[in-house]
Amino acid sequence: MPATKPAASPTTDSIPPFEHSYAALPEHFYAPIDPAPVRKPLLLRLNQALVEELGLDADWLAGPDGVAMLAGNRLPATARPIAMAYAGHQFGQFVPSLGDGRAILLGEVIDRAGRRRDVQLKGAGRTPFSRSGDGRAVLGPVLREYILGEAMQGLGIPTTRALAIVATGEPVFRERPEPGAILTRVAASHIRVGTFEYFARRGDIEAVRTLADHLIRRHYQTLREPDLAGGEPYAHLLAAIATRQGELIARWLLVGFIHGVMNTDNMALSGETIDYGPCAFMDEYDPNQVYSSIDHFGRYAYGQQPSIGLWNLTQLANCLLPLLDDDIEEAKTKAHSALDAYGKAFAPAYYGGLRAKIGLIDQPGSDQSADDDLVQDLLGRMAAHRADFTNTFRLLSDVTLEDPTDLEPVRHGFTDPTAFDAWAKQWRNRLAQQHETDTERQTRMRALNPAFIPRNHRVQEVIDAATERGDLEPLEQLLAVVSRPYDEHPSLAAYRNPPEPHEVVQQTFCGT
Ligand code: AMP
Ligand code: MG
Repeated sequence: MPATKPAASPTTDSIPPFEHSYAALPEHFYAPIDPAPVRKPLLLRLNQALVEELGLDADWLAGPDGVAMLAGNRLPATARPIAMAYAGHQFGQFVPSLGDGRAILLGEVIDRAGRRRDVQLKGAGRTPFSRSGDGRAVLGPVLREYILGEAMQGLGIPTTRALAIVATGEPVFRERPEPGAILTRVAASHIRVGTFEYFARRGDIEAVRTLADHLIRRHYQTLREPDLAGGEPYAHLLAAIATRQGELIARWLLVGFIHGVMNTDNMALSGETIDYGPCAFMDEYDPNQVYSSIDHFGRYAYGQQPSIGLWNLTQLANCLLPLLDDDIEEAKTKAHSALDAYGKAFAPAYYGGLRAKIGLIDQPGSDQSADDDLVQDLLGRMAAHRADFTNTFRLLSDVTLEDPTDLEPVRHGFTDPTAFDAWAKQWRNRLAQQHETDTERQTRMRALNPAFIPRNHRVQEVIDAATERGDLEPLEQLLAVVSRPYDEHPSLAAYRNPPEPHEVVQQTFCGT
């Protein structure tokens, strides 16, 4: 608990008043809790682009009152700090009470586009949900979350984002003392599959209904008109959530992202990527790739993510059953058909996305299943010959049909380049059927195939520089490329390189 209660700031003019649609829900949805003040807050990074988007005042945020808020030391009068209640399946095991053990929601702001966004301090101290944890966060994982969120945003994939990083000036004790930090997380909301599980497991059907209604009002407004009036709002809600998750996970796969810990408490129902812990982008393509040091059985490996997404949604469906029908068998039937939306969203997004990544256009007369086979053939060869996922597709984007030597950079990414040659021949034949110029195809492909991802060894370099030397320059450079990942950035081209053997990061750790 906080040593001293943060006083409300007398001057709050420079931050728009916080709103509280979640805190307005029944009391047992959360626990009010003040952040625990930190000794020596220092603003390490402010996300200017996000400051703009939220319509906040950068000077105020970087000044004493702003930093005091971002550190949890002194909150504006309109903040209403709470820790949210949730449960979750962690690696398949149900835990009835998790909740925000180290994250405190200050409230919601309406951004420039009129969207409601949560503002939460992660690492702000103990809460009633902390169990044995210290409520704090370590600078390294905070940097990783900041970088990966900006990379996702740059890639155009829905994500929570970091508004700021504040160093606390206090050590956090893990395997050894580490510098503490607080990350200000901005999210469409923090409602998770696990939030529903918390109430459903307690048999609190009214709370499940209240939460579902809140979710519809907040994220699925298009359902309201036709479905709330006598229709099947909750089946439609389930289907709409499943659609967003299917699309999201397809998009992760298309950029080689591995979330690493897709527990039900780490899946946001807004459809945003959330809870960047031991996550990573792959270098070499390998569907079995796992980086998380806590994922011993590969449950959350790259290629498992589509089926785990559905598994998580099935847990959500179980929670919603009482709302779907009074008859349990009827309710299950409705849940099943709502969950079909997942595959219906995932399959076209993923397979269509892959076809587009190699420049194929779906057009009347093109044989989609032959095109899919062509993609799978490439992926098989990439896996067998350890080709870099990102670079293979980006370099394919540079190829012209005129000059066969353009293929050289791609083929050298395969341990056996001849494995690529056989495929490339078929691919070029297929491309020749499309009536377009090389430039048209190149432009289209480069907009889908990023040149830059936050490679693990680069993320590690940023963390080491910041943690060991207080040097934030590598962070700036990495952010410059990953926030505009489809551009070339010639002076920073080295960030495209995969790790040298001695630089390969084998494992990423859980963000605690
Ligand atoms: P995560 O692995 O970050 O998704 O967290 C799983 C659960 O552990 C959540 O309930 C977190 O709030 C809680 N937790 C993680 N780290 C800490 C910590 N340092 N102190 C208290 N609770 C924590
Ligand atoms: Mg979590």
